[in-house]
Amino acid sequence: MMTLENEMYNLLSELYPICRSITGNGVRKSLKIIKKYIDLEIHEIPTGTKVFDWEVPKEWNIDDAYIIDPNGRKILDFKNSNLHVVQYSKPIKTKMNLDELKSHIYSIPEQPKNIPYVTSYYNETWGFCMSHNQLQNLIPGEYEICIDSSLSNGNLTYGEFLHKGKTEDEILTSCYVCHPSMANDNLSGVSLTTFLAKNMHPTNYSYRFLFIPETIGAITWLALNEENTSKIKHGLIATCVGDNGSLTYKKSRQGNTEIDKAACYILEKSNEKYNISEFSPIGSDERQFCSPGFNLSIGSLMRTPYMKFSEYHTSADNLEFIKKEKLKDTYEKYISIYDILENNKKYVNLNPKCEPQLGRRGLYHDINNGHNLETKDRFLLESAILWILNLSDGKNSLLDIAIKSNIKFSIIKRAVDSLKNCGLVKEFNETI
Ligand code: ZN
Repeated sequence: MMTLENEMYNLLSELYPICRSITGNGVRKSLKIIKKYIDLEIHEIPTGTKVFDWEVPKEWNIDDAYIIDPNGRKILDFKNSNLHVVQYSKPIKTKMNLDELKSHIYSIPEQPKNIPYVTSYYNETWGFCMSHNQLQNLIPGEYEICIDSSLSNGNLTYGEFLHKGKTEDEILTSCYVCHPSMANDNLSGVSLTTFLAKNMHPTNYSYRFLFIPETIGAITWLALNEENTSKIKHGLIATCVGDNGSLTYKKSRQGNTEIDKAACYILEKSNEKYNISEFSPIGSDERQFCSPGFNLSIGSLMRTPYMKFSEYHTSADNLEFIKKEKLKDTYEKYISIYDILENNKKYVNLNPKCEPQLGRRGLYHDINNGHNLETKDRFLLESAILWILNLSDGKNSLLDIAIKSNIKFSIIKRAVDSLKNCGLVKEFNETI
């Protein structure tokens, strides 16, 4: 049987060669591949649709692009790398001299071997991208250039999957499907989101998964689903989740919501290096979901953040840059955070005047036989019981109790279950 990390990596690799953009057939082809894993609903939103202050742009597609040098050699071929063309380049087929051509070529002088990823969605132009080494070796003379693309009325395509839980309250996981051959940013997020959706089991919350083009896709989704956004209680933007770096949690705009606390708690307990960053309006789709008119409880759990790794938006963000075990580790952290949210309820102590007699109920043992593992375990469980009884006044959630007691959430959960079975606590219902 294939391991989860290999499955995740295989999907990422299958998507990697496809030329995606914020619209077009590359997104459709990618969503069709994801549909082999989950029953994705695919939406097509027509060009010109008004979405808040924006409108859905023209659809861009590209078949081919190349540069032929004065000696008749094809020195750049879109088929070798879809990064060679500035995204949303208008079609062009002409001849021009080197100086003129150079004003349309992008490279990274500081990283002379890598090809940059460049876009120009809302300013109609054209351009090529190449390594700085290649640019410097171009010979003077007349070049033949061709970009066989189309910019026309069409659609913005996105994918959506809803796992229904016991309640209509939702947890949102969103990733973007608009980058071409970029492995960490953000096929890692796409693969992680796909497998979270695929591996869902019965839950309390409903879980919504979005595969959208970054920015315009988030704006479009929010504009079309504005009435339902009140159902979204929490969420995470899955981006840059497969590199070798340590984990970073970027807080929601509100900064101290339940998911913020759960994510920080999971990282603190991980015994690994991690970073917590405050919200900023610079980044990925949290910029839209946490805009003041929505202000949703949505953070982002990533590894090395976008813009902070040198491979970012270059041809070096390739399949070798992905570390399978890190991708899987990030996936597991998402699961742990969502697991806390699933179980993080508040309880009320039904016997609040002094401690109830626990021994009579089989919840307390005399500790007198040393420090074997079983005894330690039991001691933790019994401590958890005392903490829960003391703090279950309808104000503290199980996560609050885990944080205050410094006892693992999973043990707190086990302890509350036994207290519930004995009738010593009941779930606190805030609506009563
Ligand atoms: Zn990016």
